[in-house]
Amino acid sequence: MEKLFSKRNAHYSLGMKWNKSQPINDHLFRSWVRCRRKAWLEIYGDKQKKLWTAHSTLQLNHQIDCFHNLSQKSYGIGIQACEEGKNIAYGIRLKYPLIGNKIIKGNLPLLRKTSGESIWGDFSYQPVLARQGKNFTREHKLTLALAGLLIKRLQKSEVLSGLILHKDNDKIKMEKIKLNDNMNKELIDSLFSLEKDLESRTPPPITSNRKKCTICSWKKDCDAVAIKEGHLSEVSGIGAKREILLKQIGIDNIKDLSSVKHYSLKEKLEKFGSQHGKISKQIILQSKSQITNKAIRLKSETVINSIKKAKGLYIYDIESDPDIKHDFLHGFIRLSKNIQNEIDLQKTSYSPLLNLEKDTESFLWKRIIRKLKVNKDFPIIHYGETEPISLLKLGIRQGASSVEIEDLKKRFVDIHLLIRDCWCLPVRNYGLKSIADWVGFKWGQGNVDGARALLWWRQWKQSRRLNKMYSRNLNSIFEYNRDDCLATLMIAKWLIDHE
Ligand code: SF4
Repeated sequence: MEKLFSKRNAHYSLGMKWNKSQPINDHLFRSWVRCRRKAWLEIYGDKQKKLWTAHSTLQLNHQIDCFHNLSQKSYGIGIQACEEGKNIAYGIRLKYPLIGNKIIKGNLPLLRKTSGESIWGDFSYQPVLARQGKNFTREHKLTLALAGLLIKRLQKSEVLSGLILHKDNDKIKMEKIKLNDNMNKELIDSLFSLEKDLESRTPPPITSNRKKCTICSWKKDCDAVAIKEGHLSEVSGIGAKREILLKQIGIDNIKDLSSVKHYSLKEKLEKFGSQHGKISKQIILQSKSQITNKAIRLKSETVINSIKKAKGLYIYDIESDPDIKHDFLHGFIRLSKNIQNEIDLQKTSYSPLLNLEKDTESFLWKRIIRKLKVNKDFPIIHYGETEPISLLKLGIRQGASSVEIEDLKKRFVDIHLLIRDCWCLPVRNYGLKSIADWVGFKWGQGNVDGARALLWWRQWKQSRRLNKMYSRNLNSIFEYNRDDCLATLMIAKWLIDHE
């Protein structure tokens, strides 16, 4: 048994053991809330396999932006700021035993003075968090609860609420969150579970919700394990819920799934709801494609003919800042020959149209329309639904006529939709990066994604405000966006070549 255990976990530094007396810090706790395995890997994983992702830097910059919007009239640093009754206290480091003798450490970025009683007088403090994204999540809730319990120990009085700051368009909004006993109970239970996970020498399973993995620095490591072990979560179309259902009916891995009969699976899955039955054929084919590493043809789409016959194409890709709903870059490539010809990627002409501020849209719209009018008969190919939605909305905002909008609508061809409708490919998902990689396209810059491009953009904008033009960032964004366009083109070419 020990032998089997060692073999399975050979690539983890198991010589190291979690020391029971070691404190748990809030950073580790947040990792655990995101994914149990992530916290375990932070302790035992091989750090060389950890990839840098732009998300933590984006989160930090976002936090700085949000905190700047709080009143700065009276502030200080550390516990001394609380003792002096400042309105804002930055950078408070606390450590108290919250579960038995176990010390929990918290690095709290900001506390705000509020009503109540504390050891310092007739005022108290509450924790403040900045959140990215649309929703208030379990991670935010438990992080606030943890900060609340630590502050309670410091000021010797209850913390009744915390604050969450977030951006809504360009405005900072503040939301008050009540901290209650249920939250504290969930927090304490979670801390015990985290401690238990860290005591185990086996990593917790790979999360079934693989969407979480896209922003995780352990992604590469976990992907390799999931592929090797044939996890069901590797199959496109199987999310956390469907994985549980498949396991309930005795299908544990991709191999099992690829060998099951369609009608038998359909019948079993339909008991959980017709939507599960309907997808049975698709997930079997998908698993077959992945197991055999072969593309499976599903059907032919007539819309492919419009690309096949066209004398040329526009390829279109947008980069956006989702927090303020700003499409800051509209990138185009114009291919002035039929796609069936040989394409020299180096010779394609790329035009990046920047939209510096949201209020300069009218100029941008004119430039885009001028560009697309040069070859009115060229289809506009793109990957996913974002591009047409954004461009058509922009046109409507700029007063384009209904005829103009309809004409533009007819020219869009979504390559993502086509590939999904026509083929089952041996890939884990049908995102641009994954399919382009499969057809053999490589991005010029390593370890880049939309988050990295967004970080470059925000850094560039900041440097522009400070009059220190940081043009290298802008060039990197253009290069990344150009590669996204080229990747879309190469997928379209693969579709046509395999018609
Ligand atoms: S890559 Fe996914 S499974 Fe692995 S630690 Fe990160 S979130 Fe968890």
